[in-house]
Amino acid sequence: NQIFDVIIVGGGPIGLACGVEAQKQGLNYLILEKGALTNSIYNYPINMRFFSTSDRLEMAGIPFMSVENKPTRTEALEYYRRIYFHFKLKVNLYEGVKTLEKNGDNFLITTSKGSYQTQKIVLATGFYDLPNLMNVPGEELPKVMHYYKEPWPFIGQKLLVVGGANSAVDAALECWRKGAEVSMVLLGDEVDENVKYWVRPDIMNRIKEGSIKAFTRSKVKEIRDQEVVIATPTGDVTIENDFVLAMTGYKPNFALLDQLGVELSLDEKRQPCYDQANQESNVPGVYLAGVVCGGLNTREFFIENSIVHAESIMADIAKKLD
Ligand code: FAD
Repeated sequence: NQIFDVIIVGGGPIGLACGVEAQKQGLNYLILEKGALTNSIYNYPINMRFFSTSDRLEMAGIPFMSVENKPTRTEALEYYRRIYFHFKLKVNLYEGVKTLEKNGDNFLITTSKGSYQTQKIVLATGFYDLPNLMNVPGEELPKVMHYYKEPWPFIGQKLLVVGGANSAVDAALECWRKGAEVSMVLLGDEVDENVKYWVRPDIMNRIKEGSIKAFTRSKVKEIRDQEVVIATPTGDVTIENDFVLAMTGYKPNFALLDQLGVELSLDEKRQPCYDQANQESNVPGVYLAGVVCGGLNTREFFIENSIVHAESIMADIAKKLD
């Protein structure tokens, strides 16, 4: 039974970047990914366009070509597919990690398909697997969705979009343009300040002209089969409703970190503890890479500013295993 130098959990952009760097350092590595290659991006809205320009998403010196300056989801999927084949990356797809434990000097990883021993672990598990729940009655109804794919199911339907960040705004506009009757529930007085600067005027104007009805400083209180109750500053309002898109954000799955004893900060960010010089967590031999590093502050890291984690981690591991 071989012992790997390093196992990388998660085959997102940063997990793949870690694989490339591990290979460069001559390490015996494996990437374990529970879904398809770059599973989070695969699950993004079909017509989603990145806010980053493609050159800023590049890794390992491989040019990322896109027709417009900001790539689409499909162009990103194609780029990572090419990275995977170009570097012949060792990735086991559809193999989710279930448990992680210390085993003498090494770690034992149990997956949906088997088990592995490794000297070092990199957790690059992202934050797209667990939605932030509204915790209201009716949230479990099948008409309530936390992931948006495309507008076609909502043609001619009464759609409530919850949230005021980019995902909510993109979904609201796209569905309205295909003929859904869209309302939004916003916590604040308007959509979030960091909505993409070229999209913000569009949504503001649709709300101002009344094409999209916005309930500001409001919260969903209850979801029923054919209506939704909204708590507004002037009291509860009940509206007719066919579908709810709860675009309330996502959070990292802390369970895997917890199994190994990776500590989280005590403030509301719940940021995992790690050394910024080499990304090693408070548990020696366990490294953190990519957006998982931001904890609940899912806006702190993105591909552009976390791709560098891969290089520092693998340089550190190579040095320590030397
Ligand atoms: P992820 O891409 O989330 O990869 C984590 C991987 O780990 C997933 O494939 C997941 O399936 C896998 N995984 C999780 N748990 C397990 C397990 N137990 N076992 C095995 N595998 C597991 N960032 C940018 O830089 N620019 C953008 O324009 C941009 N646009 C975005 C648009 C949307 C709609 C969203 C949601 C995010 C966007 N981001 C953008 C952020 C971007 O998603 C992340 O920066 C990027 O996906 C993070 O890469 P990652 O590898 O850290 O995590």
